[in-house]
Amino acid sequence: MLRLTICISAVAFILISTKAFGAGGTVESPTGVAPDRYVYYPGTEELAEDEIRVIACGTGLPAARRSQAATCFLIEAGNGDKFLFDIGTGSMANIAALMIPYEYLDKVFLSHLHTDHMGDILGLWAGGWTAGRPNALQVWGPSGRTPEMGTKYAMEHFLKFVNWDKVTRDYKITPIPGQVEAFEFDYKVPDQIVYQENGVTIRSYPAIHTGDGPVSYKFEYAGMQVFFSGDTVPNKWYIQYGKGVDLAIHESFQTPQQLVDFYNQPAQLAWRACCEFHTSPQSFGKIMSTIEPRHAVAFHFFNEEGTRYGIYEGIRETYDGPLSMATDMMVWNVTKNEILERMAVSTNEAWSVPGTANQPPPEKGQPNPLSDFIEQGRWVDGFKAQDKMLDDHMEKYQLQDQDWRPQMYEDLRQ
Ligand SMILES: [Zn+2]
Ligand SMILES: [Zn+2]
Repeated sequence: MLRLTICISAVAFILISTKAFGAGGTVESPTGVAPDRYVYYPGTEELAEDEIRVIACGTGLPAARRSQAATCFLIEAGNGDKFLFDIGTGSMANIAALMIPYEYLDKVFLSHLHTDHMGDILGLWAGGWTAGRPNALQVWGPSGRTPEMGTKYAMEHFLKFVNWDKVTRDYKITPIPGQVEAFEFDYKVPDQIVYQENGVTIRSYPAIHTGDGPVSYKFEYAGMQVFFSGDTVPNKWYIQYGKGVDLAIHESFQTPQQLVDFYNQPAQLAWRACCEFHTSPQSFGKIMSTIEPRHAVAFHFFNEEGTRYGIYEGIRETYDGPLSMATDMMVWNVTKNEILERMAVSTNEAWSVPGTANQPPPEKGQPNPLSDFIEQGRWVDGFKAQDKMLDDHMEKYQLQDQDWRPQMYEDLRQ
């Protein structure tokens, strides 16, 4: 009997501790549904007008891994507007799994220009373009100590880096979605409004990291505030302006011991990385117990069995309030009444979902990026092999423009 009791309490403990994936409520019949599964299925819930949804699309380190991309948080306001805060390496796969039409994912706010915070701007820029974004990608970010350390410089040179991609897509698709509009602001001004539209206000604050330029952002909507630190050591601005915010998302780095054990970092670099240009778990806790947010979110660490407890214990030395140890696809619904943490459950094989916007038509008159020399290398038999399939396709969709094929074969025979 004693053994049975122990067994039952062990089961009960497991059920409670894995609640994030459990089913809530009562299933009323064999064909019934569980009323609440404590998970978020992307694309299935409308946001209330006075609600904010935050989704962690990247929470890890620069060497992104399959379970954790580098920093990226998507914030959705109840009015439908969506904002990406950082878009670190690997985060596009998580963004794609949310199945949000790319026309709504055109605003990116960069906390700083480390690649683990902007690496997948490549994927959003090109992937969003091919998946139907009708307009330019808009990128907000801080200035630097010199112009070439700022966001505008980075975006101008990003477009140089992707020049071949841009020129060829400009020609084959349509050029406007391939443009990047950069909005650079002074990193030194605390509480500066950098965006204000449709009831959403975004402010920036200086942060202290590995050089001048990094900022934190405060997102305000429907009388609620989400304060995203970016990368920073404990700084006076986050403390001054973070008091009582609803959701405080702040970095909490790996412990120095973890960096030595798991990363083989020299002990000297390990403490500097953790605690001299990032925020240690103990310092994170001190920040949170000082500003007392409704809910705290720790990110910027590899979150797994071997590491999360060391970080959690460090935080708990200095903070005992509500806390999420962030990992990819964690979701927070923020309302005045409740902050609900869940995990998003989505397919690995999501396609982009179309919205209602139409991309502008191809722009005529641009030079063909393919030279005559390369065009003449087409192998006619290879093309003829697809003739029937293409004829069927043309007929099915009543496409008129069929003359290009015979013409091409003629051209190639000359
Ligand atoms: Zn950084
Ligand atoms: Zn970082």
